[in-house]
Amino acid sequence: MKTIDDFNFSDKKALIRVDFNVPLDENFQVTDSNRIQAAKPTIIKVLEDGGSAILMSHLGRPKGMRNDAMSLQHIVNKASEIIGVQVKFVEEAVGPKAEEAAANLKPGEVLLLENLRFYAGEEKGDREFAEKLSRLGDVYVNDAFGTAHRAHASTTIVAEFFPENKCFGYLLAKEIEAIKKVMDSGEKPVTAILGGAKVSSKITIIENILDAIDHLIIGGGMAYTFVKAKGGRVGDSIHEDDKLDLALEILDKARAKNVTVHLPGDVIAADDFSNDANTQICPIDAIPEGWQGLDAGPKALENFGEVILNSKTILWNGPVGVFEMENFAKGTIAVGEYVAEATKKGAFSLVGGGDSVAAVKKFGFKDKVSYVSTGGGAMLESLEGKDLPGIAAIQK
Ligand code: AMP
Repeated sequence: MKTIDDFNFSDKKALIRVDFNVPLDENFQVTDSNRIQAAKPTIIKVLEDGGSAILMSHLGRPKGMRNDAMSLQHIVNKASEIIGVQVKFVEEAVGPKAEEAAANLKPGEVLLLENLRFYAGEEKGDREFAEKLSRLGDVYVNDAFGTAHRAHASTTIVAEFFPENKCFGYLLAKEIEAIKKVMDSGEKPVTAILGGAKVSSKITIIENILDAIDHLIIGGGMAYTFVKAKGGRVGDSIHEDDKLDLALEILDKARAKNVTVHLPGDVIAADDFSNDANTQICPIDAIPEGWQGLDAGPKALENFGEVILNSKTILWNGPVGVFEMENFAKGTIAVGEYVAEATKKGAFSLVGGGDSVAAVKKFGFKDKVSYVSTGGGAMLESLEGKDLPGIAAIQK
């Protein structure tokens, strides 16, 4: 794996794909600068080597057209503050102005290009557009995991123009290593905690990870499809009737591969999908009509805790309850606490993919787990076992 540490950027211009797709408020101020912060180590390495950095990113979904509300100009101040260098800005991503600004860049300087998605060629993965981008730098660095599953011009195609001079930035390298640690070289026992609303969106992941894990904890809405498939009564709980056979197949496969599956033994059932609903604790396979399971129950959490605390490698994707509602967040918080405790005892824990990331941030576990992935879709596709085009383009 060629990373930024394999290069010396002295007098070189690094063309870095970063993910500066940050949220802005109505005054175009950055409201969450985590992604800029996350790209900083890569940028600093280039500058400290005596090179200059040309940063390219997308912002929002301008659909191939200029749209001033989504100009990367809005983030120049925040990026300058974080990087500690006054960032220069050019109102083009490709073209004469961008080429001139790049050519004039001196060691230690940082240039931010305009939003890549103002150009239709970016998302189409257009070769001509990628070639124009490639003129701007000497070395291509990809540090944007969040878009690594897209074969866009700046994430994938541009790499063709740097056959020798291309590498991963620190952030992308860390993501790749974290996934490898779980999928290829995880110290045993390896446990995956999968939650979320539906089985259908996680099937490929389950099938792919079965070879890598010893325990599979299934929580959240997707548990009810498994329970119903096994003949349980799930009341009004969310479930997918057209996935019952598939659920049984998955359980068979898990058994064949010696993976122990843990479904919640009991749940907090509610008489309405609302924070103020009446609740009762019941066995997951005996939920009365008119009631729906919205969180894991106490026995389930005890069991989950035992498994998680004895694990050496943990992957967590998806909440085990409707964590957005305070009264049904306890299960997800407890799982976060167990994962944090296991991590403290030396386990490697990776949290990735959508809502579990939101949950660990919301409940303050972000710094108590080993790694929180920055890419929702990219993480899910990696767990599904797909080769991400942005990663393959560097490795080629
Ligand atoms: P996903 O995007 O598939 O990870 O699903 C996350 C969503 O699943 C969250 O918005 C949760 O509120 C929801 N969820 C978790 N458990 C349940 C449940 N028992 N019933 C309904 N929705 C749930």
